[in-house]
Amino acid sequence: MSTMVLGGGYAGVMAANRLASNGETVTLVTPSPWFVERIRLHAVAAGLRGDARVPLAALVDARVAVMDDRAVRIADDGVLLASGERLDFETLVYAVGSGGPGDGRAHHVATLDGARRLRAALVERPDAAVTVVGAGLTGIELAAALRVAGRTVRLVTATVPDGRATRTHLLELERLGVRVETGRTVDVDGLVDDGRDIVVAATGFTASSLAADSDLPTDAHGRLVVDEHLTVPGAPRILGAGDGVHVLGRYAAHLRPACATAMPLGAHAADVVRARRDGVRPAPFTLGYVARCVDLGGGRGHVQLVRGDDSERRVAVTGRAGGLVKEGICRMTLRWLAAAQRYSWSGRVRPVRAVEPVPSAQ
Ligand SMILES: Cc1cc2nc3c(=O)[nH]c(=O)nc-3n(C[C@H](O)[C@H](O)[C@H](O)COP(=O)(O)OP(=O)(O)OC[C@H]3O[C@@H](n4cnc5c(N)ncnc54)[C@H](O)[C@@H]3O)c2cc1C
Repeated sequence: MSTMVLGGGYAGVMAANRLASNGETVTLVTPSPWFVERIRLHAVAAGLRGDARVPLAALVDARVAVMDDRAVRIADDGVLLASGERLDFETLVYAVGSGGPGDGRAHHVATLDGARRLRAALVERPDAAVTVVGAGLTGIELAAALRVAGRTVRLVTATVPDGRATRTHLLELERLGVRVETGRTVDVDGLVDDGRDIVVAATGFTASSLAADSDLPTDAHGRLVVDEHLTVPGAPRILGAGDGVHVLGRYAAHLRPACATAMPLGAHAADVVRARRDGVRPAPFTLGYVARCVDLGGGRGHVQLVRGDDSERRVAVTGRAGGLVKEGICRMTLRWLAAAQRYSWSGRVRPVRAVEPVPSAQ
């Protein structure tokens, strides 16, 4: 069987390597010869780290054919690439990830280009204060890194956090000297126009338009909709994994965009392809989270232990110990990708009756 994987990130590399080690013929289409450790981009933007790229050749199984290209449309008879080439596939794994705010004028750190642009702006204006909008994990990590790098930082968030972990993160930021403003909605473009601060939107990731452009079913955010076998309803040759997909079903309501989600999804997509080849009914995708890890800069971190459904347990590893655990996990991600055949994860989560989105009729 031949499988095409679109996207050389956490989900795509995991899927491609696992498929190759299962004896499948695999082509990985991705627009650059580099794997980007997106989980390091806040540190790159703040100037605490020089780069977040790893050569794909060092991570991807030698049996995988890698094509430096970008998919622009998926059709029944193949995938159209930006180069103009059309490639046929028996099975396709859609793993194109997520990006930053598409049309906003604020900075972001969702992609390497975004992180580099922010870095350049910080270098150009060494005395400018930075306003980070959004107190999700990306906003918190970025605010901490910028502060550690010596910047004046304000973190603004519309919501007042209710989780114990987030409250701890915000207290840690205040301890570092970040001005934290909760319960405040700001006009991000207005802040950019004001021109005083460097403004960074950390208000969430956005989906690629590839699924919608290909008339595949998408959710309200443009993510490809897949069932609990990670297969597109009505298009059984197409599977999906990673930030760019919305998984339907009893076991998926708690899933969040994360490399901690993308890697198990990529591995499971490969296992579904293998099960089909072997004539076995694939298992549904299940993922029980274990921890939520945050880099708080200067070697400090916060590792919140969680139940399978991502709800907080009472225990967290904090301070320098938390930083060591967090760094250890970041390093392990590259090892897990390289040894995809042996990669395993906890599937311990209770099924819930999920409120399904209505896929767009395309
Ligand atoms: C600053 C920051 C910190 C983070 N920290 C954490 C953390 O601590 N823990 C955690 O779990 N998660 C973290 N995340 C989230 C994590 O990085 C993402 O959830 C993860 O990268 C998703 O993996 P993916 O494979 O779906 O997508 P990606 O890693 O984005 O990979 C997608 C790939 O697809 C390629 N691609 C895009 N379009 C096309 C196309 N049309 N054709 C072919 N290829 C295409 C891209 O070039 C890329 O190689 C963080 C993210 C950021 C930005």
